[in-house]
Amino acid sequence: MSRSVLVTGGNRGIGLAIARAFADAGDKVAITYRSGEPPAGFLALKCDITDPEQVEQAYKEIEAQHGTVEVLVANAGVTKDQLLMRMTEEDFTSVIDTNLTGTFRVVKRANRGMLRAKKGRVVLISSVVGLLGSAGQANYAASKAALVGFARSLARELGSRNLTFNVVAPGFVDTDMTKALTDEQRQNIVSQVPLGRYAQPEEIAATVRFLASDDASYITGAVIPVDGGLGMGH
Ligand code: NDP
Repeated sequence: MSRSVLVTGGNRGIGLAIARAFADAGDKVAITYRSGEPPAGFLALKCDITDPEQVEQAYKEIEAQHGTVEVLVANAGVTKDQLLMRMTEEDFTSVIDTNLTGTFRVVKRANRGMLRAKKGRVVLISSVVGLLGSAGQANYAASKAALVGFARSLARELGSRNLTFNVVAPGFVDTDMTKALTDEQRQNIVSQVPLGRYAQPEEIAATVRFLASDDASYITGAVIPVDGGLGMGH
């Protein structure tokens, strides 16, 4: 059955791999993008998730074209790395506004339709560093850790309405976000990953699609690591 799926930040990186995985399975997929040309094959909405008005407009357009969103993947995220002593108020609040408050905005809006439909799947993209911590990423790690409490609260609040909320915590994935790292940093990371390599975006997408599938009907409030073993033990 073809479902209405929304992937925020589905125009590139992990989000694009997730969008493709759902589209390949026959779902109707909407993605958000902020600038440039979005990839073909999706309903692409220009939407910055830090702006509640743009979020509302995007949902109206999706509902008109694909119907109520049944699967939401809150994937859009940013980093603004800096050691705490040098981290400005803006470095901190802008990362929280995208990664945490932006997720709140899109999830809250999706829930309206999901409650009416009496079903819904929400998957939040966190990160291994939300649980392990990461020097120079206090803002990012805090925003990603917060997604766990957010998802688990909603799992309790809305479980009886047949809505599930799960978190995927990727390790290091080969995308624009990690291309910013130096070769030395990359080698250092890889040396700590039991599987000895970065993930491909498709490997994250497969887990997201599982969590939105019938096979995951009894899974909610879970945090699933897809990190090559990097975060083992948390
Ligand atoms: P990229 O930097 O490649 O892509 C980020 C995506 O988020 C882009 O689509 C971008 O849109 C979108 N985005 C950022 N800010 C906003 C905003 N305010 N409104 C709407 N969209 C926005 O990152 P990845 O694909 O690597 O990461 C995707 C998710 O996975 C993120 O949440 C990230 O934190 C998480 N993650 C990534 C890991 C990695 O190693 N790469 C590891 C663990 C987690 P635009 O093109 O318009 O900028």
